[in-house]
Amino acid sequence: MPIYEYECKNCKTKLEVWQRITEEPLKTCQKCGGELVKLISESGFILKGTGWYVTDYKRKEEEKKSKKEKEEKESS
Ligand SMILES: [Zn+2]
Repeated sequence: MPIYEYECKNCKTKLEVWQRITEEPLKTCQKCGGELVKLISESGFILKGTGWYVTDYKRKEEEKKSKKEKEEKESS
């Protein structure tokens, strides 16, 4: 589920909201009733998530590889 960041044009309040893609975007500031503008921070968030996943996956692969090498050495 993506996270959306909004900023109020009127009072400059920033808010982050978890929303389904199918959900209606927020339009009104709950504090002052001003107009909300959607900020484009969601792609950065997704990139960070992917980066963490890739790093973690790589690390596991390396662990597997070094374990295999060790086993091969021991059996020979
Ligand atoms: Zn506001």
